[in-house]
Amino acid sequence: MKVLATSKKPSDTKSKRLKYVSLERSWPVLNPVLLGFMELKQDNYFPFIPKEQIPFYIEKAIQFGQDAAQRYANDFSLKEFINILLKQGVRVNFVNTHPSDQWIRAQYLEKKSTIEIYRPSLVQIKSFFQEIDESVDEKDIIVLHLYHEWFHHLEEKKFGRTDRSLPKTRIKKWGPFVYKRGIRRTREIAAHAFTQAAMNINWSPLLLDYLLLFTRQGWTKTQIREHFQQIKNQYEQLTEPEFAEDDEQANP
Ligand SMILES: [Zn+2]
Repeated sequence: MKVLATSKKPSDTKSKRLKYVSLERSWPVLNPVLLGFMELKQDNYFPFIPKEQIPFYIEKAIQFGQDAAQRYANDFSLKEFINILLKQGVRVNFVNTHPSDQWIRAQYLEKKSTIEIYRPSLVQIKSFFQEIDESVDEKDIIVLHLYHEWFHHLEEKKFGRTDRSLPKTRIKKWGPFVYKRGIRRTREIAAHAFTQAAMNINWSPLLLDYLLLFTRQGWTKTQIREHFQQIKNQYEQLTEPEFAEDDEQANP
C-alpha cells in the first residue's frame, strides 16, 4: 500500500478537523434530502420513478447510509482507518490522475479490493477550503474519500447494495413482460450519508461535491444560490398535496 506523505509543517498543527468546518458562513447550502434529490435526478431511470415515491428513495438511501455508519464507523483517524482496511484486505492507492475522467475523486475497484484516491481531488479540496480561510487537516480529506469508498466495499462484502435493498422501478411493459430496474444513484446518496454520519460533519459531502463542480464551471455564488432555490421549489412541488384531492372533496 502506498500512503501519501503528509507534510509536517508547523502550520499543520493549526489545521482543523472537517467536523469543525462550517460551509454555510461562506457558501449557499442545501440540506441532505435536497442534495439527494439532485443526485437522484441524475439516475438514468429517474424519469420512471413515480413522483410520489421520490422522497421515499432519497430518505431510505440516507437512512441506509446512516444505519451503516452507526454499525461500522467510529470517527477513525487516518492511521486507524488504514489498519482497519488492511485487516479487511482492502488496499489503498494514491494515483496521480484518473485515466479517463477528471471528475472522479476516488473509486473502489471491487475485483482488486482496492480504493484508488486521485491526488488532484485532495489538492482541489484543500485549496477550496483555503479560499474560505479554513486550513483543513489533510488527513481528514483523505479520510473523507476513504469513508465513501469503504461504504461501497461494505455494500459488496457485508450488507448488500443500497439499490438492491430498495424496490425496483417499473421501466416499461411489453406484452406480458414488465421491465424493472434498480435505482443505482441511491448508492451514492447512501455513501455520502454514511460519510457525513461517520465523520460527524454538519454538511453533506454531496454539498462539497456540488460546490466544487459549480465553482469549477465558473458559477457565481448568486447563480449557485438561485440553482439551489430552484431545486427546493421543484422538490416542494413534488411533496405538496395534490390539488386534485381538494377538488374531489369540494365536489363530492
Ligand atoms: Zn460512490
